[in-house]
Amino acid sequence: MSTPPPTPPPTPPPTSAAGLVLVTSDAFNGWVFHDAHPTQGRRFRNGRSRVLDLAASVNLSVTEVAADLLPDLAVLADVHDRGYVETVVLGGRCDEWSGVRRDLGEIALRMVGGTLLAVEALLAGSRTAVNLAGAKHHAMRANSSGFCVFNDLAIAARLVLDGHADRVSRIAILDIDAHHGDGTEVLCADDPRILTFSVHDRTIFPGTGHEDDPSRHVHNRPLAAGSGDSALASAVAQWRDVAERFAPDMIMLAIGADGHRNDPLSTLTYTYDGMSSAVAAVRQAFPELPILCGGAGGYCPDLETPESWARMAVAAAIGSPV
Ligand SMILES: [Zn+2]
Repeated sequence: MSTPPPTPPPTPPPTSAAGLVLVTSDAFNGWVFHDAHPTQGRRFRNGRSRVLDLAASVNLSVTEVAADLLPDLAVLADVHDRGYVETVVLGGRCDEWSGVRRDLGEIALRMVGGTLLAVEALLAGSRTAVNLAGAKHHAMRANSSGFCVFNDLAIAARLVLDGHADRVSRIAILDIDAHHGDGTEVLCADDPRILTFSVHDRTIFPGTGHEDDPSRHVHNRPLAAGSGDSALASAVAQWRDVAERFAPDMIMLAIGADGHRNDPLSTLTYTYDGMSSAVAAVRQAFPELPILCGGAGGYCPDLETPESWARMAVAAAIGSPV
């Protein structure tokens, strides 16, 4: 009598923790200040498609969450000036566009809602959540800046730290968008529970972020014009050292795609592999921590931006470059 071949152990179904939560909304496609503006909302639609295709190719499950939350204005006013919030959302006015555009004011609010839903998914047990329309890192307390209206990362960080202090007492933010995350830095520097670390092109807007302020957990790695993948990798390795000492309970990433070598708004020369490897290194450093990814900038809406976003979002979930 022959021995039956051993039964292979069943493959566990993918859990929500191992998959990726992707917050999306067709409304984000309307994020167009004017036809010739570098910011074009179709990058969000294209980004969603690329994330879904790339995730499927590596058997990563994606749970889509509709960005149908319009947060109470009081939530934004925890970080922003209340009058500024009302001018944008109720009045439809903002320095980023001309005239009264209540549609854009509502989308700006919905983008914050998207980030809050992503954080909610993390608190419910997901490990990686993405809002490509998030990480509006230039937005300041009482004004918009650099195409950014409300600073969703600062808002979400404050909300989580205040409301879930038993589980999340420290948040480390890493911003690898090509531009200095000045708004996030300014809005979070006085909160000892938040660490900010920005890796950016020192030659472009907004022209800040040249120094560290370690006593306030503020770190900057300004890169020379033309810097590429190796500079990014080394900066992220430095972030890892700083973040490990800080011991965060949650990580927020601004995965801006505008450091790509073809992007018109920076001089950096990152490749898909370089960006994806940098984000994979973050996941490898903190395999169990919840990671929120916000899309930040990216000005090649039809190819390089969605492709860069997809590679980074998937790398954050699986912990290897893709
Ligand atoms: Zn940028």
